[in-house]
Amino acid sequence: MPALPRSFSVSAAGTWRQCPRRWRFRYVEKRADPPGEPALLGTFVHRVLELLCAEPADGRDLDRARRLAAEAWPETAEDPDYVALGHDAEAQRNFKWRGWTAIQALWQIEDPADVEVRATEARVEATVGGVPFFGVVDRLDVEADGLAVTDYKTGKAPRPGDVPKSLDQVLLYAAAVEDHLGERPARARLYYLGSGVHQTDVTDSGLDGAVERFAESWAGVGRACAADDFPPDVGPLCGWCPYVADCPEGGDEVRSRAARGRLRDDAPARVLLGLPA
Ligand code: SF4
Repeated sequence: MPALPRSFSVSAAGTWRQCPRRWRFRYVEKRADPPGEPALLGTFVHRVLELLCAEPADGRDLDRARRLAAEAWPETAEDPDYVALGHDAEAQRNFKWRGWTAIQALWQIEDPADVEVRATEARVEATVGGVPFFGVVDRLDVEADGLAVTDYKTGKAPRPGDVPKSLDQVLLYAAAVEDHLGERPARARLYYLGSGVHQTDVTDSGLDGAVERFAESWAGVGRACAADDFPPDVGPLCGWCPYVADCPEGGDEVRSRAARGRLRDDAPARVLLGLPA
């Protein structure tokens, strides 16, 4: 019987909700889940913005950000996961340009020189809804009416109907900050760099909903571990699952989608299953 993990993160909960079997591969068997290009781009952007926020407020301008991006670039360029992408010079230029475009987009949202930053990339361990929570808060700001939790996103903003659910992540960070510091943040927000901001005040009802959903996932993990039963949940995302070659149901799903022309050409499962591109 698999042991319960010592902590549960927002991304672990997301994996659980996507597919219990994928969760088992990742969190019980502890198999690697190498970051793809979008995640590596996000890491580069987060690093530059972290360095920017460590600067004195009046020095946080675009010129400084450009220099910090140049200084931070070798960390990404030498990362084995980035090297594994096999970028040629043009692909690397394109990657760096997309990163810089996302960094610059922060100025469309705010002037970083006006932000009072209390912490960046803050690791938070807390008890949230009875669940041992772990997370990394991108940025915690001090504003006139209290603290604000901010998470940067370099991917696409959610469709309008998915916005409330997407805010669960930052509401859970707000709950963890409250447990950790004894102070409830006033607001929680997602900065989609290049496509705007989604935010919410941190209220009892908002927190209750997010925490309840998170605790339900944790309870599901507990039941699955007790029974050692992690069923596959097949769907389009099997095409992006790093474990598809060891999952018969997921493999069948991907092959069936490929045969029907319903699998994107860039789905990593094509390589993992030896399907034609
Ligand atoms: S291939 Fe699909 S069903 Fe199998 S573990 Fe991955 S996501 Fe789950």
